[in-house]
Formats: sequence, C-alpha cells, structure tokens
Amino acid sequence: MAERYDVVVAGAGHNSLVCAAYLTKAGLRVLVLEARPNIGGNTATEELTLPGYKHDVACSAYVLLQASPAIRNDELGLIRKYGLKFVKPDPIITMPFKDGTSLTMWLDIDRTVEEFNKFSKRDGEAYRRIIAEYDSVKSIFGRNTYTPIGYGPSLDDELIQRSDGALWLRRYKQSALEVVREYFQDEHTQTFMLGLASLTTQAVDQPYTGRLAYSLVNGRQYNSWITLVGGSGGFPNALARLIEDEGGTIITNKQVVDLLIEGDRCVGFATADGGTYRAEKAVVSSIHIRQLVEMASREKWGDTFVKVVENWQPGFTFFETHYALSEPPLYPIGNERRPCVASIIVESVDNLLRFTSAMRRGVIHHDAPEILAICSSLADESRTPPGGHTLKCISFLPYDLADGGPGKWDEIKEEISQEKLEHLRKFAPNLTDDVILGKHIDSPLDLERRNLHNWRGSGHGGELSPAQSGAMRPVYGWASHRMPIPGLYQTGSTTHPGGSASAGPGRNAAWVILDDLGTSLEAVVAGERLV
Ligand SMILES: Cc1cc2nc3c(=O)[nH]c(=O)nc-3n(C[C@H](O)[C@H](O)[C@H](O)COP(=O)(O)OP(=O)(O)OC[C@H]3O[C@@H](n4cnc5c(N)ncnc54)[C@H](O)[C@@H]3O)c2cc1C
Repeated sequence: MAERYDVVVAGAGHNSLVCAAYLTKAGLRVLVLEARPNIGGNTATEELTLPGYKHDVACSAYVLLQASPAIRNDELGLIRKYGLKFVKPDPIITMPFKDGTSLTMWLDIDRTVEEFNKFSKRDGEAYRRIIAEYDSVKSIFGRNTYTPIGYGPSLDDELIQRSDGALWLRRYKQSALEVVREYFQDEHTQTFMLGLASLTTQAVDQPYTGRLAYSLVNGRQYNSWITLVGGSGGFPNALARLIEDEGGTIITNKQVVDLLIEGDRCVGFATADGGTYRAEKAVVSSIHIRQLVEMASREKWGDTFVKVVENWQPGFTFFETHYALSEPPLYPIGNERRPCVASIIVESVDNLLRFTSAMRRGVIHHDAPEILAICSSLADESRTPPGGHTLKCISFLPYDLADGGPGKWDEIKEEISQEKLEHLRKFAPNLTDDVILGKHIDSPLDLERRNLHNWRGSGHGGELSPAQSGAMRPVYGWASHRMPIPGLYQTGSTTHPGGSASAGPGRNAAWVILDDLGTSLEAVVAGERLV
C-alpha cells in the first residue's frame, strides 16, 4: 500500500523546509518533494569550482533570519539541538571609490561613524541618527514580516499608533534615494547608503524602498555580514535532519509538474517521472506562482487570479561568478590594504541610477559597472582547504537582453564575467590570474536553470513593488497562503514577506495551516501535537 501523508510539500528551499519543520513538530506525516538532486534552493552550498571549495550558490548573509522567531527564540531547536552556528565578521563591508578613498562598516558603531566623519562630520551624526531612529520602529516592521497577512493589524495601522506615525508611513513609502538624500550630504556617504539599500535587488529610486535605506544598514550594523559556519547549506540541512527526526520524508529528483485535483479540492502533486503523491490534510507549494498557475485549469483558479499572476514582474536579476582563490582580495581600508568579507563597488549615486535604468531597459551597463564581492571563507575557514578562499562576485544584470533575449547569455557570459573581474582588479589588484584557481559562472539564465523557482532569473521571487508586496503578494485576497483551490497553500518568496533567507513565508504558511487544522503555531512550539 502506498505511504500515507497528511501534508505533501513541493520544493525543498528553506521556506518550504521551515514550513514542513513546524508541521512535523505538530505530529503530521509530511513528505517534501524536491526537483533537484540536492535540497536548499538558493540557500544551498556546493563545490562549484574545485573539490573542497564550498560555495554558497546564492544566499550568503543570514541577516534577516536573525529577526525570525525561528532563530531568535530558537523555536525549532536548530541552534540548541542541530548546532547551527553563525559568525559575525569584522570589518563588515567596505566600499572603495575611484578617488582612492573608501568607507568601511565595522561592528563597533563608533568606528563606522569615524569612517563617515572622514567625508562629513554631519553625515557621521546622520549615520548614528538613522540607526537609532530605525531601532525605535524595527519591532513593528519585524512583527509585520513574521505575521501572516490577515492575522494582525496592517503595517500602516500599527505605525500610525506612534506619535510620529505619519512620518514613518511616509518614510517607508518613499524611495531609498529620497530618504538617503534627506539624511546624507556627501557623495561617498550617499553612495554607500544606497549601495546597501540596493542589496535585496530593489531599484532604490522606486517607491516603497524607503524602509530599505533604514533596515539593510541597521541589520548589518548589528549583525554584520552574518555567515553560517560550514556554508549557507547548513540551514536547510539542519531543517532536513529535524524533519526526518520527526518522522517526515524528503525525496529529491522529484519535479512537480501537476496538481492532483478531486472535485474542487487539491489533494496532491504529480511528478515528472509519473509519480503521484497524495496528502490527506494539506498540499503546500513553493513552486514559483507563475509556474503554479499552469498546473491547473484557469477555471479552478479564477480568471482574475490568473490575470494578476500572468502579469507577475520578476524584478532585478543577478549575474554571479564564483572563484576558488589562493588569497582573498585586498582592498584599500584606512592606510593599508586588507581583506573584508563583503565589498560593494558602485562608485557614485549617478552610476547606481544609470545601471538601474539599464536594467529596466534590458541593457548591459558596460559603462556603469557595479559589483558585490563576498569572500565568506574569511569568516569561516572550514569552507576551503588550508589557505584557500572562496569569492562570489554578484552584479545586477538583466535576464531578458534587449538585443538577443535570455538565450544570448550563453554566448556572452564569459566575456561579461571577465569584464567584471577587470573592474574588481582596479580596487583589489592582488586578484591576478595566478591567484585564481577555479571559476564558475551563473548568468541570470543559469540561475533559472539551477532553480526553477528563480523564474526569469529572479532570486527573490519577484519584484517587491507596491503591486507585489504585503496583502498584494501574490494576489490581493489570497495573501494568507491559502490558494483559490481548497486544500492548496502557497509558501516561498512569492508570498509575504517575499524574498531573502528570512524564513518568513515558511513560518507564516505553517501558522495558517496549523490554524486551519485546529491548533496554533504557538501551541506546537510549546510541544503540543495534533495526533
Ligand atoms: C545570487 C543570489 C544571492 C542572494 N543572497 C542572499 C543573501 O545573502 N541573503 C539573503 O537573505 N537572501 C539572499 N538571496 C535571496 C534568497 O536566497 C532567496 O530569496 C531565498 O533563499 C528563497 O527561498 P525559498 O525557500 O522561497 O525558495 P528557493 O530557495 O528558491 O527554493 C525553492 C526550491 O523549490 C524547488 N522547486 C522549484 N520548483 C519545483 C517543482 N516544480 N518541483 C519540485 N521542486 C521545485 C527548487 O529546486 C528549490 O530547491 C540571494 C538570491 C540570489 C539569487
């Protein structure tokens, strides 16, 4: 007789694993189906270049995750029982400029302020102010992130309770560019603040990015470029151990291609190899919403739902080159050359706005290069053989090229990767050819091939614009993880609060499912079991 499951989950990215973990802790029989040979999705770690060099395929900084109750309160025992260990490297981020100067963030805020003071004492004070001001509201933003839509007051309703509520309502709806220009005067400090605000792939001149000007810098000032010892993949792997310890099952190489629907209800998934997997209580998907709607008839979803999803915007996309190195890149920091776990090369506000505009037009911005270079091995020696280092160079580049479409990436990715390396060498000249031991390139098209959930190259589920965030994600009226087809729930970064390794969509979806099953996430965390 076929195995019986209460819940079947599609995809083994961190969000669906987080959701599955809470559900198994509730005593439910859970099965997770993953398309790839390995779990983790964008939080996986793989030997992409040489044996022994562990590269985070996408996510490397677990900053947002620190605010999740899953980690903050260790609700699942991932730290206590499964040994997750994070490190906070110092210095945190450096930004070198063409004029030979640099701005570096240190764990000691006074030291960071000194860096701002080099350019403007007024901006040094502005840095302290922007950190302190966000400190006073971040619990509200955090609560909104880690509460399913419909289970608490809206962000606006919470913020407006404060005496300065009108100010915060305005700030988070503004663009990051407007916020940064209000606080900072010097070109270097503005560029640094906007470079940080752009890290979650939002265009900084877009409305509703105002919060990012506060939150991204605040998160890193307190948590650094917080890195998981052993590689980002340690997080999904710990979740998998927990799920299996609680009696759950994870099967890899199982691509879901269809929903099983009986009457009006979704009862399971069909996989590409002809398998069918049924669930008695709930079917959970982290399949990209754009692909999910293809898995049932339009009639089942409703015409409006499908029309909204068909118009889904992927937002900005990434181009990555991973290197195995014999030494880390050395940047100008103070009066010396030294390594730093993360460097952002943006050069100027004007440059940042030019590459933002090029992205929108599907154009490669050769004249406005930008790079985020991450050397995680500086924080964690266990990732390489002795003396070795890993480096990941990320740029924002369009998936759908105006002159050639996505398919052109296979022709040009080597050349673009080399162009980015030459640019990085202007700031870290020690990255000579003999230092580079191995290389792996992922264009936006490769990122989609690697992970189906990176639809059209989007690593964050899709743009987090006003039309695709909060109660609008993925579709207004369906943001509480329950889909129009009864029995089917959606999690992953196409749901609130969106992309990043936050565990938010996974925990929020578990909250809703447990509520529908007559218990609560709180009760399950306290040890209550359904069966
Ligand atoms: C280059 C890059 C760098 C990033 N850096 C950071 C960072 O430093 N910090 C941060 O917080 N965030 C970062 N992000 C974003 C973050 O990694 C993602 O938003 C997040 O990991 C998404 O998690 P998820 O669980 O929703 O989905 P995913 O991680 O995308 O996982 C989805 C899983 O579902 C599987 N799947 C998809 N379709 C099917 C199907 N039909 N059948 C079965 N399985 C399926 C996929 O194979 C995958 O394993 C980065 C993203 C990219 C692309």
